[in-house]
This record gives sequence, structure tokens and C-alpha cells, in this order.
Amino acid sequence: MKKLPVSKIQELFAAIRAQQTLYIPTDDASGQARYLPWQEGMELTHALNTVRSAKDFFFPQTENLVEFKLKGKEIEIIDSRTEQDDFVIFGVRACDARSFTILDKVFLIDPIDTYYKNRREHGTVVTLACTQPEETCFCTTFGIDPADPEGDAACWIAGDSLYLKARTEKGEKLLSALDNLLADADEGEIAAQQKATRDIAQKLPFAKLNLAGFNGENLNKLFDSKKWPELSEACLGCGTCTFVCPTCQCYDIRDFDTGHGVKRFRCWDSCMYSDFTLMAHGNSRNSQVERFRQRFMHKLVYFPANNEGEYGCVGCGRCLAKCPISMNIVKVAKALEGEVQ
Ligand code: SF4
Ligand code: SF4
Repeated sequence: MKKLPVSKIQELFAAIRAQQTLYIPTDDASGQARYLPWQEGMELTHALNTVRSAKDFFFPQTENLVEFKLKGKEIEIIDSRTEQDDFVIFGVRACDARSFTILDKVFLIDPIDTYYKNRREHGTVVTLACTQPEETCFCTTFGIDPADPEGDAACWIAGDSLYLKARTEKGEKLLSALDNLLADADEGEIAAQQKATRDIAQKLPFAKLNLAGFNGENLNKLFDSKKWPELSEACLGCGTCTFVCPTCQCYDIRDFDTGHGVKRFRCWDSCMYSDFTLMAHGNSRNSQVERFRQRFMHKLVYFPANNEGEYGCVGCGRCLAKCPISMNIVKVAKALEGEVQ
């Protein structure tokens, strides 16, 4: 483990930026926490987490896939893929770091999504342990330790020091290139800070959310629950919950007519939208009840059933904070609890 005084964090950022693009969570002009490319003097946000998650780095909201150009009667096919430059994302929280594991299970299985893979290979994730988890957090439900985040390297702010520990080869490479700034440290120096974080996390209102029975074995019971109409009644179908969610991974592919050809791009989509997966014969889910049920069944039942028990939620709390009707995955799980006991 290594450390440097927190007062020297700008020097650390500058040293990373000298090697590759660095993104940090900071407050934008409207006061919202978001990841931006670091520039001299840019400071870390005091917010616990960014409004939009870190998934944008690997799965951006829109991206070009391929281009077709008409030349007389010929069609030229242009591959839009370019090799990604190396980049570092600093300050990713434990929940968002786990979301990458979930996205990997979707995009890196056969057939591999080469657009996603390219970014994953070039991105180094530096996590930052939480010190003050918020009331909306319930990452511990999913076995995530906010005091000991995953990532290529992990950081802790304890007292006047920033502690850093490499966890992967990429993390080792990054820290060894910063060695002249870092001093040796002992893991015991962060123990009190970690204990304080875990004590807070354990006392949060949703820390002990009960998900027993939310897996494949009760799929039909949960699917047929009579609670869905009531739960979904007020849902506006706005899709906010899916757009802020670090684990939602649905997208649409569309063609843009450039006048002399076509640009094919993909963009995030939402299972909450009425035209989601709309096909020539019609829609597979015609009511908001069905669409609402799909979102929560996917995260709480289908995904773990197909991925060795891994839920499609990391307890980041964004949907709890942002849904305009105050509906969220915690309310759904609590309402359905009785169906599986
Ligand atoms: S659950 Fe909330 S955020 Fe999600 S689509 Fe419905 S109203 Fe919008
Ligand atoms: S469902 Fe809600 S709490 Fe779970 S990962 Fe998505 S936004 Fe976060």
C-alpha cells in the first residue's frame, strides 16, 4: 500500500494526466456531480456519487457503429471503430465498480461486443472508498463493501492522507509510474476509517433488504404476482430509472440518413418505453404493467438466474433518488417479499 498527503492530490492528478487522459468526479457548472476530464485545479466533488454512473465510459449513451456511403451503384462500408486511447477514471465508488462486472457478463460473452471491449481494455478504474454512505445506499445487500472497493487500484482518504493500493496489473502499472510521489504505507492505517464506514453502512435503512427467494426458483410466482398493477400504476414510463442506472444495458440501433449514405448508431434504450423492442408485428409488452415488471424481474430474478446468483443491481440508490414518483427497486423488492416466503 502507498500514500501521499491529500494536499498533494493535484500533483497526483497532474502526474496521471501527463501519461493519459484522467477523468474525475467533479461539480459541473450547474452544481451536479459528474465525471469530467481533469484540468489543472479541478477538484473532486464532495457528493458521494455522480448523478450519472461511470458506465458511460465503457457503454456511452450514443456511439456510431458503422457507416455506409453510396457511390453510384456501389456501397462503401466504413468501420467506425477506432482504437481507444488509454484513460484513467478516478474516484469510482464501490457500487459502480461492481456494475462493470455485471456489464462484462453482458458485453464480454460470446459474441463479444468489440466496442465495449476496446474501452474496457484501455480504461484503468481507480476506486475511492466511501466514508459517508447515504440513506439511499444499499450496496451491502449485494455483498459490496463500500469500505473496500474493487477496481484496478483502490483509494482511501483517511485523516490527511490518500492511500492507494493496486489490485490488478493495470493498477500496478499506474501506481509504479507514480512512485516518486508515493510513500510506503501500512494497511492498518486505514482500518479505523474502514470500520467507521462499515458501521454507517450497516445502520442504513435498506442495508438488510431481504432478497431471499428472488432467483430463478420462484420465477413464475413472482411473475404472476397480483402486486404488479398496483406497483406500476403511477409509473410515468419516463425511463429515468434506467438512464441513471449503472447496470442497465439495453440499447437500440438506428440508421441516420446523411443524404449520401447512412450512419448506423446505437443509443441507450429503456424497457420502460412503449416502443421498446417494437417490431413489425407489434410490441412484445403492450402495457406499462408488463414493461415495469420486466425491469424489476430482469434485475431481481432473470439476471441472477442466468448469472450464478449475481443480481442486476448494485444498490447505488440512484433510482431511489431520481424517480419522479418515488418508485424504486427497494419498494418493489419489499412489496414482493411475501410472494416468496
Ligand atoms: S419507475 Fe419512476 S423513473 Fe422509472 S420509468 Fe417509472 S416513473 Fe420513470
Ligand atoms: S436499480 Fe437502482 S439502485 Fe439498483 S443499480 Fe440501478 S439505479 Fe442503482
